[in-house]
Amino acid sequence: MKLADRALNISPSPTLSIDAKAKEMASNGHKVVSFGAGEPDYDTPDHIKEAAIAAIRAGKTKYTPVTGIKVLKEAICEKYRLEQGLEYKPEQVVVSAGAKHSLYNAMQVLLQPGDEVILAAPYWVSYLEQIKLCGATPRIIETREENGFKLVPAELESAIGPRTRLFILNSPNNPTGSVFTVEELGALAEVIEKHGIMVISDEIYEKLIYNGIKHVSIASFSPALKEQTIVVNGVSKAYAMTGWRIGYTLSTLPIAKAMGDLQSHSTSNPTSIAQYAGAAALTGDQSYTEQMKAEFLRRRNYMYERLNAIEGITCTRPNGAFYLYPNVKGFFGKSYQGVPINSATDLAAILLKEAKVAVVPGIAFGNDNYFRLSYACSMENIREGLDRIEELLNKIN
Ligand SMILES: *Cc1c(COP(=O)(O)O)cnc(C)c1O
Repeated sequence: MKLADRALNISPSPTLSIDAKAKEMASNGHKVVSFGAGEPDYDTPDHIKEAAIAAIRAGKTKYTPVTGIKVLKEAICEKYRLEQGLEYKPEQVVVSAGAKHSLYNAMQVLLQPGDEVILAAPYWVSYLEQIKLCGATPRIIETREENGFKLVPAELESAIGPRTRLFILNSPNNPTGSVFTVEELGALAEVIEKHGIMVISDEIYEKLIYNGIKHVSIASFSPALKEQTIVVNGVSKAYAMTGWRIGYTLSTLPIAKAMGDLQSHSTSNPTSIAQYAGAAALTGDQSYTEQMKAEFLRRRNYMYERLNAIEGITCTRPNGAFYLYPNVKGFFGKSYQGVPINSATDLAAILLKEAKVAVVPGIAFGNDNYFRLSYACSMENIREGLDRIEELLNKIN
């Protein structure tokens, strides 16, 4: 049996093997503490669940327009008008089965073989695979810890060549939690506008920023940039709705039309009842998100202090999302019970086996000198996990 090259070229998620091992250990009765979560540990707010239940009762259980129901698309336009001062018409909105699907649609209609895409590392791993699925070539730029893992304009500019079609921007960032300031974004925006390349702006963590920085969409810097940008967002992270699968894009009409046509032959509309829930999320009470954010901030601060107190670890203080990204290079060249440690993957394997703590090694995001630790888990979990990490790492030191 032969599979298509397209399928053979997809790398399985490197986070999954750790995750699978952690689950296997848990099922064998071990108490595993996991920092692997990529979703809020909160439940979806009741008023959003009620909107979905009401939609079921009202018989909203049929196909909807491919690119989404009117109330949801209008709510998305209104949100961007109020929060970003950006005017989009509902026809410029495409609602899909999660932001990941939105990203997929966007890349499928923009990219073809020979095109280059600039991706700053550490990056969210699906970007890389989605670029490859289009037959396009990723051009990866390593960011630096000293810059808070933020790409600087000169680095972006030097990576732009005649084949560059697209730059992928993700602020707040997964896995580093870094957030661009308005000034930093403005400087990148200038480079992007000057060279006329497209930008995908993944804004899925916009509601989770902790230091008072206001999220600004790169689309808002100039009318030209608005045309060059595909904004990607969704309800998964801000409203604890990862399972509902509602994401969306804002773009020019021709791009929106192309994505809608593509979607019409693949998934058609996203789930009808989830769309009603999504509309309730965007138009309803926003205080739940604020409460969640306050708790995330408390956890981040605790975890940041604890991690930096461990000899051999350095960790920058990220301002967004729900991840910390400590540097663990201090342990390379050492060993634990005869097992050498030369990468974050090696150290993660030891932590899982010996301390029963699961972390995601940086290899999953393009650089194996770091761990990603999620604080989308209980404070109790965080305390216990850090006690175990500290105890084990102190034995290695
Ligand atoms: C979680 C996540 C998404 C996708 O979220 P959906 O659940 O598909 O809406 C997109 N980008 C990044 C960086 C993420 O972490």
